[in-house]
Formats: sequence, structure tokens, C-alpha cells
Amino acid sequence: MKTVRDPVPLQERVDDDLDELSKIVDDSQPGWTRTALSEQDTAGRHWALRRMRDAGLEAHIDAVGNVIGRWAGRDPAAGAIITGSHTDTVPGGGRFDGNVGLVGALEAVRALREADRRLDHDLVVIDFFGEEPNDFGLSCVGSRAITGDLTGEHLALTDDTGTRYADALAAAGIDPAGLDKARWDPSRVRAFLELHIEQGPVMEQQGTQIGLVSTITGTARFRALFHGRRDHSGTMPMHLRQDAGCAAAGTVLAVERIAGEQEHGRGTIGSVTFTPDAVNVVTERAEIFGELRSPERDWLQYARTALLEAAGTEAATRGVTLDFEWLPGKAPAAMSPTLLDICADVVGGLGYRHSRMYSGAEHDAAVMAAFCPTAMLFVPSHAGRSHCPEEWTDSADVLAGVHALTETITRVDTTPAC
Ligand SMILES: [Zn+2]
Repeated sequence: MKTVRDPVPLQERVDDDLDELSKIVDDSQPGWTRTALSEQDTAGRHWALRRMRDAGLEAHIDAVGNVIGRWAGRDPAAGAIITGSHTDTVPGGGRFDGNVGLVGALEAVRALREADRRLDHDLVVIDFFGEEPNDFGLSCVGSRAITGDLTGEHLALTDDTGTRYADALAAAGIDPAGLDKARWDPSRVRAFLELHIEQGPVMEQQGTQIGLVSTITGTARFRALFHGRRDHSGTMPMHLRQDAGCAAAGTVLAVERIAGEQEHGRGTIGSVTFTPDAVNVVTERAEIFGELRSPERDWLQYARTALLEAAGTEAATRGVTLDFEWLPGKAPAAMSPTLLDICADVVGGLGYRHSRMYSGAEHDAAVMAAFCPTAMLFVPSHAGRSHCPEEWTDSADVLAGVHALTETITRVDTTPAC
């Protein structure tokens, strides 16, 4: 009879995998760029497919581009334990966001196999397709497809050039007609665990090694279009103007003010466009795109109302019209309290400094949480930097995360209910 040993993740293999993946990037951009639908993204997902097979998994790419590898457990009737993340990046992003979760999942499988720790449950490793927001305003495409949350409406979204998302997928070799085939049965899933970098400064400031995510922040995105009157900037007195630019500017500041009212509130205007965009013309049309975030559902609702009121006041006091539209957003997603307790117990037992926290960034885990018991483990990010070339997590911190993930998988496997 074989001896059952402890699974031991190996730093060198984790580092090598992160290194290899970091070479599959678009060199014409700064940092590490592997945006969904690009040729580098396709190459990255095929790399993931090969690495899954190398680790002994039965692996394939599904109808929407998710890479999925399965290690069959002893009990075919038990649901699967899923773990993984994404390999796509934002333009000019870092080499850890998403990658750590996939590479960590691969190493967990290797460590478990080497220790002869076959699970009762199937263990499924996943590289979710298109996690980062794309030009069509959609994120978490792969997890949405798996959970039945990718609809015809999403496929009909268009980018700036008028291209439909369905056509962009088809051009990358993904057949949107096969969408339903990507959908999973929730009764066949036991739990989803995602290892990820924090992408913020909290853990480093606290000296935490493993962050246990309790809630993933909700996001309310909007577009506000102000219509005023074009006038000569030198001749039109201030009190007679209908300046759409000033109404937009007031709304930008309202976003900052409202978000600043709550500790976990976040508010950002990512895009401002003035028309006619000339220094000596009063702005006729101003368009802003922005978002509010918070892990607290009630506060997010309050902030939406407050912002709408503020934008309305900024417009009305200047005789400017306002066309305000809420874009697809996400409600705050709570992680499974039972899984969270399991994670805390495992991580504490391993001796890692840990704390519970919320995630300010969106993740596939937020989509999966509506589908099956879900938990996230964070490892620290240097100076909180992320979505930039400076994004960094020390090798030892990544390994601690992989270790915690591996042991959590084995604990979930043997715990009666999640
Ligand atoms: Zn990510």
C-alpha cells in the first residue's frame, strides 16, 4: 500500500510557470499584455491546456474558450471542487493578476498527485476566458458562460467600431452558437476556490500573508451625457452660459465626494469627452463614464441615488440637459461563510498570518458565488500596485498562497458540507 504524504508545492515549479506565461505577451505594449481575443491570449490558453495535460489532467477548451482540466476523484457522484483563475490581462498590465491563480491550481494538482492524495471529489482546474473588461463593456465572460449568465444580449454588444461581440468571438475561433454547451450543472459542483493577488495595499500594510475574502465589491457603472449650448468663450457672460463641460466637471467632483463619504466607497471617472474640444468655445456636449464601488449593497444604492441627484443639480443649475444611463454592473458578492471558516482554520493551522478582508477588484469568484459555494485566497501585492507593469508579488508569498490553496482543497474534500 502506498504511503499518503503531505502535498508539498514547489517554489521552483511555480516560478517557472509564472516565468513561461509571462513570455507569452504582446511586445508592442508596455508591461505584460495578453488581452482576451488577441493571438497572445489564444497562445496563453493553449499553454494552460498543455500544462494541465502535463500535470495529468484530462483537459480541453470549451465552447467559449475556458480551459478546463479534470482529475477524476474516487466518487463519481460527488460534485467537483473547482480552482483556477484567468490568464488574460488588461493592456499594459502585470504578470501576476490571474496568472497566480492558474499556476497555483496547476501546482496544487501536481503536489497532490505526487503525495498520492487522490481526492474523493473530482478536482477541476480552470483558466476562465476573458475575465478582464473588454471593448464591449463585458467582463468575466467564461465564468458567466459556465453559470448561465452569458446571454444573447451580451453577444449583441458592440465596440467603438460597431463590431458585434459574437463576431469578435467567431473571429478568434470561438463559436458563440455553442454557448449552452459551456453551461454547468450546479448540482455537480461542490465548491470554487480562487487564489489571486490582492491588487491593493491592505495586506502589505497589515503584514498579512493570506487574505480571506469575505465579500467582493459591487460595481455601479454609468454614462452621463450633458447637452448645453455652444458659445463664444470671450463674449458670452458667465451667467448666460449653458456650459455642459462645467456640469460634467461638477459631477466628476460629486463622484469623488460621495465615494469619500464611506471608508470602503470608491468612485472613479475613467473617461471624459468635451465637444467641440476647443479652448475658445463653451462646451456644448460633455460625456463622462465612471463607476462607484462598495462591498456594501445598501451604501451602493445610496451612492447611486446621491450621484443621480448631484448630476441632475449640476445640469439644471446651468440650463443643461442630462441623459444618465446605468451600464451593466455587479451587486456585491458574499463568499460562502462555511468555506471562509474552513479557509481560516486551514491557513491558521499552517501558521500563516491571515485576516478577513473584502476585495475591491472584480473577479470570476463573484460570478461563481451565485452558482456554488465560493471562496478566495489573496496574496499581497507590493505597494498595492496592479494593472500596471510594476505589479509584483514575492515568490515566497505566491508559494504560501499555493500551499494554503492545496491544503484547503484537501480539507474541502473531506468536510461533509460546504
Ligand atoms: Zn484578476
